[in-house]
Order: sequence, then C-alpha cells, then structure tokens
Amino acid sequence: MKPGEFQLIDVIRRRAATREDVVLGIGDDAALLRMPPGRELVVAMDTLNAGVHFPEDTRVDAIGWKSLAVNLSDLAAMGAVPAWCTLSLSLPDADRAWIEAFLDGFFALARQHDVALVGGDTTRGPLSICVTAFGSVEPGRALRRDGARVGDDVWVAGLLGDAAGALAQWRAGAGVDDALRQRLDRPVPLVAVGCALVGVAHACIDVSDGFLADLGHICTASRVAAEIAVDTLPCSTALREAFDPIARRTLQAAGGDDYALCFTAPASLRDAVGAIGDVSEVAMTRVGRIVAGEGVSAFDRDDACWAPGRTGHDHFAD
Ligand code: ADP
Ligand code: MG
Repeated sequence: MKPGEFQLIDVIRRRAATREDVVLGIGDDAALLRMPPGRELVVAMDTLNAGVHFPEDTRVDAIGWKSLAVNLSDLAAMGAVPAWCTLSLSLPDADRAWIEAFLDGFFALARQHDVALVGGDTTRGPLSICVTAFGSVEPGRALRRDGARVGDDVWVAGLLGDAAGALAQWRAGAGVDDALRQRLDRPVPLVAVGCALVGVAHACIDVSDGFLADLGHICTASRVAAEIAVDTLPCSTALREAFDPIARRTLQAAGGDDYALCFTAPASLRDAVGAIGDVSEVAMTRVGRIVAGEGVSAFDRDDACWAPGRTGHDHFAD
C-alpha cells in the first residue's frame, strides 16, 4: 500500500538528525531554532524541477544531494556557516522507495556539514524540490556581490565546466564520462572555502548560471568591470580529455552548474588566498582583475577579445 502524506513525513522525520540549537524540529506547526548569540541569520532558497535542473534519468539519491548542495553553495558564497534547512517536496505520487533514496543523498550531504532538517512541506504535483538553507555569519562580514574594488584580483575556487561537459555529452546522446557526470549530479559546495574567505574576499558569488554571467553580477552590483584571461579558467583532467580546447572554453566560461566560487580580493592578499586553497585542498586560480567601467571582457592567449555564444543560463531567455 502506498504511504499517505503523514507516513511520508514520518519517514523523513525518523531519518532527520538534530542539533543542540534545534529547540523544536519536524512535527509542530513551525520549527524553533536558537540563533548563535550575536550572529546574523543568512537564508538561501533554491528549487530543482525535473527536466529543468536535472535530466529525467538522474539517480534519485543524486537529486537529494543536489537539492541541498545548491543551497549550501549559496550560503558558502556569503561566507556563512550552515546550520538548518527546510524541504518542500512536490511528488507525482507517494513512493516510499523514492523518498528513501532521495533522503540517502540529502542526508549524506547534511551530515557532512552538520545541517539539521527542521521542517518542510509535502504535496502532490509534478516532481519539484525546494530547499531553504539557514546559516549564520558575523554581523557585517558576509561576502556580498557589491564589494569588488578596482585593482582586485578575480579568483575562482574549484573547477569550471565539468557539469556543462556532462550535460553536453548527455544531450548529444553519447556516453557520459563518469567523472563529469559525478560533478553534475553531486556538486560539492565549497563551504569551508567560503567561510575562510570572510575578511579576505571583497566580493563573492557561487557559479551556478555560468562563470561570465555570475561574475557579471558582481560587476553590476559593485559598479566595476572585469577582464578575464579565458585560457586560465581552472579545468579538470576529465574535461580536458573529453573536449577540444575551443568547445571546452565555452563550457567553462558559460556552462553553469559548477558550484565553484568566484571572488575578488586585493592583490596584497594573494598568499592568504593560496593558504586557504592549501588548507581546504581546493584549487584557487587567479583568472583576471577588476577594472573601472562596466561589463566582463574575456581575452584569449593572443590577447584577442573572446565572447561565447551566450554567457550563462537564464530560465526565461533560453
Ligand atoms: P501544517 O499542516 O501545519 O503545515 P504539515 O502537515 O505540512 O503541517 O507538516 C507537519 C510537520 O512536518 C511540520 O513540522 C512540517 O515542517 C514537517 N514536514 C512536512 N513535510 C516535510 C518535509 N518534506 N521535510 C521535512 N519536514 C516536513
Ligand atoms: Mg504544511
């Protein structure tokens, strides 16, 4: 027999871990959470729709992982320490095995970051998952998009293009490289890097829609421009082996779904950035600089201006 709504919620509740600062979690009309004294609350929400945010044949545990990962990536981009989350599930039908597999992925990532699931909503409808993540930061110290200054270096923490490479292979109907598929399905949010960048980075954003587009958001908010050496964008071995340099460049500059961090920092703090990379074992790559003006310009090895067919993903334009 199919479980009802309350049985589904019970499955979730029984598997949800708690934390000392959760006064009341799943089961009442709302959750009660104790804020760490003197910290600012940071809130991020992201929705995953089947066929839009993940291919229909995506493993169910990967959907669970990714729905939390994209939100933790947003908190990381603010320099926030994650603490709690809520989960709104719209499901075509009540399928116990589906929920269990989804929770396998969701809680695997939640455990890694000590994030407690404290509430949510469960409804019937087309498959759609909406997660809200809550974290905290020292007041006034969050990594915003509007703090970039002329003269800053532009950095990327992590790698670019793998997820878009997997999607390109999947769309072409060819075999998808395992390493690339893993990066599409189970992105790793750079939480420790984001937290460590507080006090170092002037501005930060996570790369979800495409590197050039996301850096463009920093430039617009900060009223500055950026110049990028497109051939310096960080690249995995798997991507280098799977695509020629021209195809790869577009995937890296405009592909999206990377969940790398793009940030700006003063040149005087290059060593500090390098040290954060060493400690966290995440590649830190200096890819350009902030200049006066507006917009993002990319240059190739011969200093020729380079533009991709598109700069990033826009749900309503594409
Ligand atoms: P209400 O009708 O008061 O909104 P619900 O029946 O929707 O309550 O939910 C009962 C409890 O279960 C609440 O504490 C709610 O936060 C929690 N809950 C419902 N769905 C989920 C879910 N998908 N994940 C986590 N908690 C959930
Ligand atoms: Mg409800």
